[in-house]
Amino acid sequence: MDDCIFCKIARGEIGSKIIYENDNFFSIPDANPIVEGHTLIIPKKHFKTLLDMPSTLAGELFDCIKKTVEKIIKNINAGGSVGFNIVNNNFKAAGQVVNHLHFHIIPRRDGDGIKVIA
Ligand code: 5GP
Ligand code: ZN
Repeated sequence: MDDCIFCKIARGEIGSKIIYENDNFFSIPDANPIVEGHTLIIPKKHFKTLLDMPSTLAGELFDCIKKTVEKIIKNINAGGSVGFNIVNNNFKAAGQVVNHLHFHIIPRRDGDGIKVIA
């Protein structure tokens, strides 16, 4: 996808700090973080939504999620216990803005006031 921002990052045409990567996924800080450590998990191939991603990649997806969370929690956990939410918006009606599959990792603290739909 020539004009897809996440494909450009995956191809290295736009620089970004890679937090973790494996063969099919990478993670980078969100450009507009809603909280410190807000991170995106992104497949290197262009899939519009979760429905387009082969289920055979699920293991690698979870590897990327878990290794990324371990790294970012270690970085920001100095002050106490930190939790996290995983958010995945699919299609415009659900709030998807970038049409390349991605998962938000949102670090959470007790009483931080962040509202996550669930
Ligand atoms: P969505 O609403 O599609 O789930 O969220 C898209 C997310 O991508 C937003 O949180 C937005 O801040 C982030 N984003 C959009 N463009 C870029 C970019 O070029 N680089 C990075 N790191 N994040 C981006
Ligand atoms: Zn793409």
